[in-house]
Amino acid sequence: MKSIGSSGAGSPETPRNEECYRCDRAVAPAFLFKVSVEPSSGLSKKYGNSVRYCCEHCAAAMNLSDFSHQWTQQLDRG
Ligand SMILES: [Zn+2]
Repeated sequence: MKSIGSSGAGSPETPRNEECYRCDRAVAPAFLFKVSVEPSSGLSKKYGNSVRYCCEHCAAAMNLSDFSHQWTQQLDRG
């Protein structure tokens, strides 16, 4: 067991809980979309950067998700 240092729970890149921010569905972190929001210069005075994690269903509902080439090639093959 390595327990040197205090790299404990909670790096900012890791979702703290395993829930979609929209529907509160419990999802494994590996199956969450990371939605990173960066306002352009005209909005940055009012809005900060933010990161949300959402499930694939909500990502599709918001039209945020896009299929990988790997996935579409598989579909083309039948
Ligand atoms: Zn969701």
